[in-house]
Amino acid sequence: MKKFASVLLAVLVAFSMFSFVVSAAGVTFTVNADKTTVNAGDTVKVTVSIPENAGLATLQVALKYDAEAFKVKGATPGGLYGFEEVNASTGFYTSAASTPPTKGGVLFTVELEALKATDSEISIVVSEATDNEYNDVTVTSNKVAIKGFVEAPVDPTEPTNPVDPTDPTDPTEPEDPCKDGHNYSEYIVTKKACANQAGEKQRTCKVCGNIEKEAIAKNGKCEPGAWKVVKAATTTAEGEKVQECKICGEVLQRAKIAKLPSNPITNPAIPNTDAQA
Ligand SMILES: [Zn+2]
Ligand SMILES: [Zn+2]
Repeated sequence: MKKFASVLLAVLVAFSMFSFVVSAAGVTFTVNADKTTVNAGDTVKVTVSIPENAGLATLQVALKYDAEAFKVKGATPGGLYGFEEVNASTGFYTSAASTPPTKGGVLFTVELEALKATDSEISIVVSEATDNEYNDVTVTSNKVAIKGFVEAPVDPTEPTNPVDPTDPTDPTEPEDPCKDGHNYSEYIVTKKACANQAGEKQRTCKVCGNIEKEAIAKNGKCEPGAWKVVKAATTTAEGEKVQECKICGEVLQRAKIAKLPSNPITNPAIPNTDAQA
């Protein structure tokens, strides 16, 4: 076997000038992982497979993985080649055959131990792939995306926001005592209505103190107040008195006050009987 390898090496050196001649066809390898979500300590079994009639006489393939995410625990050759080796601590695979195998299948298997739960990718790096005429063959592969372990979902039966009894803003504080309606006192008129202006009334909840206001429509009648003298009568001129609405202040009635008698001995200043009390 060693002799075969050295002969192969000599042939490879002899043909190295043609190493840039790449097979137009190319070969696609398949990389598979038995799990794609990992937590630290998990073992992921990665399988590298080749198609039937790949036409590859020599191969050097390494697994490409994030060395911070995984380390190789072990590796096993698939048995497709008469000569094949896989390094159990690096996963580096080497094989050679004078006649390329026609059979496809598992080329080798590598066990990776996840060092941490992190997202990464697993694929291969091909450092050598030649056909039986020692021409380089382009080998590609898929990439396996590995996801770091996802935190377990929160138990829905567990309160996500436990009640803090000292938190005054806690929404579970005593609920609104008036949620089904307020318990109002009678209306109190805060502004009377008359013919000229609308009024307003309000009531207060006896439980929570909420105030509800309501307008009082104009009612068509003003409220006459007492008469007021706006111009006192004299012995030479009549006076004038008015009666205003107690609500809106509008003058409702005007009346004259008779002249005072020229000799007012017993008359009061305002002789009109309608005079204000
Ligand atoms: Zn209330
Ligand atoms: Zn009025």
